[in-house]
Amino acid sequence: MTVLRELHLAPQTGAGLVIARGQQLEIIDPQGEQVADLVSFARADPAEWLSSGRTIDYANTIYLTTGHTLYSNRSRPMWTIVEDTVGRHDFLLTPCSPETFTILYKTTGHHPSCFENLSRGLAPFGIEPDAIPTSFNVFMNVDVLPSGELRILPPRSRRGDRIVLRAEMDMIVGVTACSAELSNNGRFKPIDVRVYADPDAA
Ligand SMILES: [Zn+2]
Repeated sequence: MTVLRELHLAPQTGAGLVIARGQQLEIIDPQGEQVADLVSFARADPAEWLSSGRTIDYANTIYLTTGHTLYSNRSRPMWTIVEDTVGRHDFLLTPCSPETFTILYKTTGHHPSCFENLSRGLAPFGIEPDAIPTSFNVFMNVDVLPSGELRILPPRSRRGDRIVLRAEMDMIVGVTACSAELSNNGRFKPIDVRVYADPDAA
């Protein structure tokens, strides 16, 4: 397939990009055990965004993988997962933010975060920080205990693991190499992103 665009996200960074319907987004973990947060908005109207709630409703599972559709807040398909070499991602938790580190991890001083990196990456497309929803946290490994307690475990991804999502509409996309120690087994690694041309296009 033709690569239209390739991004190498340095550790604790992010980017914004556009993708057209039919194109495919590949997110690669080049070193292993690294999470990438993904959000997206309809290009025609950014008030339509990738919805954790709608997606989990229709999939009837919190563990999304090959064959699942990711839906917008307006219940329209945004992405289809066409390939997934890991099979464990999270769609329950928000992108790590400055407040995640002060409230949850008691960090003092500035700490890089996915929320800030998404805000920065999406700003050129006119998307405000308040519009950023729960992210699809690629490679993030969250277990739910019978009590309902959540356990954030090291990602199951190994060097070169990837997920490929087909865009079901034209979108503005934000993606990061996550900045939270706990989600990434204590070490920040890069994330590679590729956009492929629509394989069915003439
Ligand atoms: Zn993060």
